[in-house]
Amino acid sequence: TSKVDIIKKHISSYPDFPKKGIIFRDLFSILREPSVFALLKEILINRVKSNFPNVECIAALDSRGFLLGPLIALDLQLPFVPIRKRGKLPGKVISEEYSLEYGKDVFEIQQESITQGEKVLLVDDLLATGGSLRASCKLIEKCEAVVVGCLVVIEIQALKGAEKVDAPLHSIIKY
Ligand code: IMP
Repeated sequence: TSKVDIIKKHISSYPDFPKKGIIFRDLFSILREPSVFALLKEILINRVKSNFPNVECIAALDSRGFLLGPLIALDLQLPFVPIRKRGKLPGKVISEEYSLEYGKDVFEIQQESITQGEKVLLVDDLLATGGSLRASCKLIEKCEAVVVGCLVVIEIQALKGAEKVDAPLHSIIKY
């Protein structure tokens, strides 16, 4: 079995969560096993090195992206920057609204956290419809920085989220 197969085997799936018809893919079962978590960390770092060698900053999405982004940033000695839901970040923030199934939400980033022209990699646990990463790409562009790509552990291919994201997308596991 390959390293990716081991990761896939350790992702738990919960049918009908958070509502009927949805299969929730849960990453926390990986974090419970240090050897598997270490493997995931190694895979993520190698993917960044080979696919996004010129990246200058790692930005991750609220909230499970925060479990992964700092692992990569620290190893590559790059800055880590959080993208959070509205009202969580102090100081001057830049905002981007995005649509949910019902209603809207807002992502924010601290203005001082990104410099003009900086090459940013976006990290999250999972790509579903692509709405979150799409809004995050727009947010980085509002900061006049550049999204070099997006990296997720899991991609739900049937939802075609990759088509919504205007940056090279890389996923470790596809369902
Ligand atoms: P999207 O915006 O539709 O692509 O949804 C992606 C966001 O929703 C990510 O931040 C995920 O953490 C979260 N998400 C959606 N579906 C799942 C799931 O099955 N497991 C874990 N997170 C999910």
